[in-house]
Amino acid sequence: MHLYGTQNTNEHGHLTIGGVDTIDLAKTYGTPLFVYDVELIRGRAKGFIDTFEKLGVKAEVAYASKAFSCIAMYQLAQEERLSLDVVSGGELFTAIKSGFPSERIHFHGNNKSYEEIVLAFDTKIGCIVVDNFYEIQLIKEISQEKQQSMKILLRVTPGVEAHTHDFITTGQADSKFGFDLNNGQADRAFKEVVNDEYIELLGLHCHIGSQIFETDGFSLAAEKLMEKIGDWYKNYEFECKVLNLGGGFGIRYTEEDQPLEPQVYVEEMIKTVQAQISKLKLTMPEIWIEPGRSLVGDAGTSLYTIGSHKNVPGIRDYIAVDGGMSDNIRPALYDAKYEAVIANKVNEEKNSTYTVAGKLCESGDKLIVDATLQQADSGDTLAIFCTGAYGYSMASNYNRVPRPAVVFVESGEHQLVIQRESYENIIQNDLPLDLKKGVKS
Ligand SMILES: *Cc1c(COP(=O)(O)O)cnc(C)c1O
Repeated sequence: MHLYGTQNTNEHGHLTIGGVDTIDLAKTYGTPLFVYDVELIRGRAKGFIDTFEKLGVKAEVAYASKAFSCIAMYQLAQEERLSLDVVSGGELFTAIKSGFPSERIHFHGNNKSYEEIVLAFDTKIGCIVVDNFYEIQLIKEISQEKQQSMKILLRVTPGVEAHTHDFITTGQADSKFGFDLNNGQADRAFKEVVNDEYIELLGLHCHIGSQIFETDGFSLAAEKLMEKIGDWYKNYEFECKVLNLGGGFGIRYTEEDQPLEPQVYVEEMIKTVQAQISKLKLTMPEIWIEPGRSLVGDAGTSLYTIGSHKNVPGIRDYIAVDGGMSDNIRPALYDAKYEAVIANKVNEEKNSTYTVAGKLCESGDKLIVDATLQQADSGDTLAIFCTGAYGYSMASNYNRVPRPAVVFVESGEHQLVIQRESYENIIQNDLPLDLKKGVKS
């Protein structure tokens, strides 16, 4: 059994995280429950930041908070000296409410609304990562109305697509995000913003994919962006202050995944940029990165209570849990794979095979197909590992299922950071029927 971060086993044969018995957590807070290993998150943040410091490169490590966002998470990010990526007005609002320093917030998205951009100006965030020509117009309008400046990065698609174990280069990147680096769009965007009186262009951004296990894709992307920066320096004397190479660093979900240490990605990126710097005779920009999954993914564990058990003779053994695709859509959406353990029987042999079904009304609502587990009984607690990224943040109320609670644990302490939704919460925005015309008197 592969354990993550501070996970361990105690004298009762229970899984512990952060020195806390997960069975006690399940009793105290109920299930389904997300448990986050705070020490693991702190360690990852430190790993990224220390690597830049060790190499003497100015940097911002921005937590891509769409992976998991709530007030306590933003406060933890602040404690760990991270910057923050937000992708919506809702995330920006939450970050500001958490007290996060706005100058370290970066705003992403391919269709930011007028209101969202106004919020970014009003809260004086550090940088907008500009995605398209429509957005350039909105930012120009708003900055002129407010007579307020804004720092921006231009998001470009370098024609490098990284996949889990390889990467491909395409001349024309088919993506809804960013300005194409190869077909003149990026140059046109550059010209539209570079001399604007309120816009301060810091540099370029790219994000080549997710759950990436190789450094080649990042190096190639860095090379392409630096070439463009070299062009703009030569032709327009543009001095690039920031190169943002995005996130996407892979983590281990199952034994098939063999991630690199997060530091390795950083070291390779810096090597590439430094080589380009000396070749093109430029000054070293700040390097920004945007890890999401690699900061919180394996720090999260989902706890469920096992309920019904259905055996289809000769075909499959199903056990059903009290959550499912409403708190973890990734198996249904991406065919994502997970490992699990019966948290109250960790020391027993894993000699059974079950398909873990959710409780939602979809045949596709299966969290793990053919999981190898300890012998399961109704009432046992199932722990699914590595659900910290894109789990809670993608949760829904499908079937009017309340969203789970979220707990942080560290050094024997536990704290509720998101309450479980109640049935009252579920109906709080509903209004009674009030159409009179169709009623027959
Ligand atoms: C989603 C996203 C990230 C984070 O990706 P991870 O795979 O979670 O590290 C970073 N930057 C941008 C622009 C993103 O959209």
